[in-house]
This record gives sequence, structure tokens and C-alpha cells, in this order.
Amino acid sequence: MKRIYSFNFLTRLMFLLITPVFFQFFAIGFIWHSIYWGVITSVMIIWMAFILLSPLVGRVGCGWFCFMGTTVDFSGKHSFFKTKWKKPKLWVRSLILIPFFISAFSFYYLNSERGITHDFAVIPAFLKLDFNMHYKIVWMTDTLSAIIVGLFLDKRWACKNLCVMGTLYSRGANYSRLISVVDTNKCTLCRKCEKECLLGIPIVDYIKNNEGLVTNSECILCGKCVEVCKSDAMKLKFVWDREKYKNRIKNSSDQQL
Ligand code: SF4
Ligand code: SF4
Ligand code: SF4
Repeated sequence: MKRIYSFNFLTRLMFLLITPVFFQFFAIGFIWHSIYWGVITSVMIIWMAFILLSPLVGRVGCGWFCFMGTTVDFSGKHSFFKTKWKKPKLWVRSLILIPFFISAFSFYYLNSERGITHDFAVIPAFLKLDFNMHYKIVWMTDTLSAIIVGLFLDKRWACKNLCVMGTLYSRGANYSRLISVVDTNKCTLCRKCEKECLLGIPIVDYIKNNEGLVTNSECILCGKCVEVCKSDAMKLKFVWDREKYKNRIKNSSDQQL
């Protein structure tokens, strides 16, 4: 279990390296293009599957797959600012959804009038695998923006405030069954996990107030906290009934007093 972050690191590095070739599969912006053309493409299928699965396995898409998140994390290690955890601004998040979907569906409607849409037929390879100059420029712009955001803004600021997928994921992740869990009997409150968390989640607050269940909808299940915990108190675990789990932990702590 402790090695989970090593696997996470390798997986994310692999996706980062193959993204230039398979950009159309991974880039969230292509969801906008898919709506624009009225076609269900592979990128739409992949990201929609992650959204549908988020009430079960949270934000694994963000933590194991997304090249933007990975780039932000890499550059964020050299960030010029060390800020404290700030909650996402829900109103900013919600406002971003509106222009995203309104503009995409408006273009879809105009294209439909011109008879060049596809009635949302499933055509996975519609956005072809040809990585032409246009896509190269978009990819370079995305990567550069992620590097700048990582260097100058709060940890994963864009994931918490701007990304449309992040907003949709976080709704499902509120109910995720796969959660970071702390064994409160083993924990020494050293705060190492909190310092190293890629999102800067205030994990110790969850240890003190939530029986060790890190039920934060921004958690990307990367396993970094598991790796750094020297007391072996942190795990990624399936918790099917949160209230039952919390009561069980509370009762066992009461008995020890
Ligand atoms: S919030 Fe968006 S940009 Fe961030 S990791 Fe998730 S999908 Fe990628
Ligand atoms: S690193 Fe481990 S022991 Fe330290 S606060 Fe986190 S869970 Fe507790
Ligand atoms: S709480 Fe742990 S698993 Fe979740 S984002 Fe932070 S380091 Fe990753």
C-alpha cells in the first residue's frame, strides 16, 4: 500500500509523455469541440465515465490521468508562493460552467442549422489522431499555462476554481466510497501528510473532527499522504457507510479511555 504513490507517479508520468501523441483523447477542451460538432468522441466517453464513477472512486481521473493536473503538480513543487489551503470558490466554479456549455451548445445549434453536425452519434475517432500544427499549438499553450499556474498560484488553484471537469467531478466525489482514511490510534499528528498533500487539504482537521475520514471533494486519491506517513496510519480505503465507520471508530476510542 505504501508504494501506491510510486505507481501513481509512474502512471502520471506515462500519461504526460504520451499526451502529445494522443492529445485528442486526454484534453478536456476537446469535450467542447465534441459538443460543437455534435458527436460523442473518445475523449467525451473517457471523461464522462470518470464523472459517472466519481461517486464510487472519487477523482481518480484527476489524480492518475489528467496531464494538466500532473504538469501543475510538477511546476507547483517550485512554486514561488506557499499558501494555506483555501476552499474552492463555488460561485466562480459555477459561473465557468455557464459560458462553457452555453457557447458549446450555441455553436452546436448554429452548425446544426448548417447541417454539419452528427446528432451526437458515437464516433470515437472523430477528432483524428493526426497531431497537426493547430493541436501542437493548443497542447503547448495548455502545458505552458499549467506550468505558469503551478508556479504562481495556490496548489491546484485552476483545478479547484476553473476546470469544468473538476467542478463536475467534485459533485460526485462528495459521495466517493474510496477515501483517504487515517487510523487515529496510530496517528502522531505530525502533519507530514498535510504538508505533502498535492492539494494542501487540511488532513489533520479530518483526523480531529471526522474520525480520520478525509471526505474532501478535492482529494484526487494520489496516495502521496500514504507514502509520507511514517506511522503507517494513512490508507486509501473503500468505506461503504461513512456514518457506520465513524460510529465504530468513536465507540472503540471511547472504550479505550
Ligand atoms: S480538475 Fe481538471 S485540470 Fe485538474 S486534474 Fe481534474 S480534470 Fe485535470
Ligand atoms: S503523516 Fe501520518 S502520523 Fe502524521 S499526521 Fe499524517 S496520518 Fe498522522
Ligand atoms: S489527501 Fe492524500 S490522496 Fe488525497 S489529494 Fe491529498 S495526498 Fe492525495
